[in-house]
Amino acid sequence: MANPSHLSNRVSSIDVSGIRRAFQLGANLENPINLSIGQPDFPVPEVMKEAAIDAIRSDLNGYTLTTGHPQLLDAISTHLENDINWNCSTDQLDLMITSGTSGALLLSFMAMLNPGDEAVIADPYFVVYPTLGPMTGASIVYCDTYPDFRMTAERVEPCLTDRTKLVLVNSPANPTGVILTDKELQDLVDLCSSRDILLVSDEIYDLFTYPDHLDSAGRCPSPARHTQDMLLIRGFGKNYGCTGWRLGYAAGPSWLIAEMAKLQQYTFVCAPSMAQAGATRSFGIDMSPQISEYHARSRMIHEALGDMTTVSSTGGAFYAFIEVPAELDCSGTEFCERAIERNLILIPGDVFSQRDTHVRISYACDQAKLAEGLDIMRDMMS
Ligand code: PMP
Repeated sequence: MANPSHLSNRVSSIDVSGIRRAFQLGANLENPINLSIGQPDFPVPEVMKEAAIDAIRSDLNGYTLTTGHPQLLDAISTHLENDINWNCSTDQLDLMITSGTSGALLLSFMAMLNPGDEAVIADPYFVVYPTLGPMTGASIVYCDTYPDFRMTAERVEPCLTDRTKLVLVNSPANPTGVILTDKELQDLVDLCSSRDILLVSDEIYDLFTYPDHLDSAGRCPSPARHTQDMLLIRGFGKNYGCTGWRLGYAAGPSWLIAEMAKLQQYTFVCAPSMAQAGATRSFGIDMSPQISEYHARSRMIHEALGDMTTVSSTGGAFYAFIEVPAELDCSGTEFCERAIERNLILIPGDVFSQRDTHVRISYACDQAKLAEGLDIMRDMMS
């Protein structure tokens, strides 16, 4: 008989209880104010939809090359050349399209890490990051970035050991919205390079960088502007509202992309074909109205709660990480439980952290609902 006790240590060491708890909290609410959803509330741009539909109707529904459809690879190459001055068609640099940004993250960890190796991530973190330890047998080392959530070289340095092979940085960040400065990223590049450590940069929210956090050339700060000796991971899901299309990409040293492509060939095979066709049309679409709208919502949060508690510096993405005021004498989880009683869904900080002192708001939701949610939070904090 099939025996659940035969399940791998890998799965038993991955804990999804935090996420499940967060979803269960709001499962029975009718028409809740839901500030928990981590995906954009705007529709996919029409030209992308049309291109994906055209591909399906034109019977382009087979596998693509493992590394991706040449047309999308070309479009990304041109974009990277313009944006970060990388030429991905040299012998040193290469590029591949992945099944979601999550796919690129997993493939990079699988390609780089052996059991016993260490990878450093920021705390707080995107929920997938800690699971990449059990998936690969590597140990995840948490770099404490409280209270300002900046993963600086000074904070990373003490986390490094002889076994560290990889540092993963995420800016704009989930769950805080914090964007590191060009200088902070340069320092991380220098630190990793001096220690022979691969820097992996998850920039899935790169387009959602608000004006006061852009670099001097008006772009999202990226370590890729300081080195090509790193792995850059970006995606389409958040920037264009197509999270279900499962589309990301990775660019970096050819020796690494070759191994990630090998792993993709025997796991995901390729990214979804019609999604690749749709994303080919994404470059050049003006997303500034959506970015301005999200920027305005981020300001609403600071205006509503800034005098009650500490709100993370929301430079981009669409999240704010909000401290539960000490006077309330309750954890992030307890605060979320109290919010549920008022029909408001938030996510407790311990889903993204070893601590349970904060809650995460996603403001990728209707502005009127956000205003209602903020009123309730304000009331709960007074
Ligand atoms: N990185 C970060 C920081 C994220 O927040 C997410 C999604 N929430 C991902 C990666 C995964 O993105 P995808 O849906 O493209 O796999």
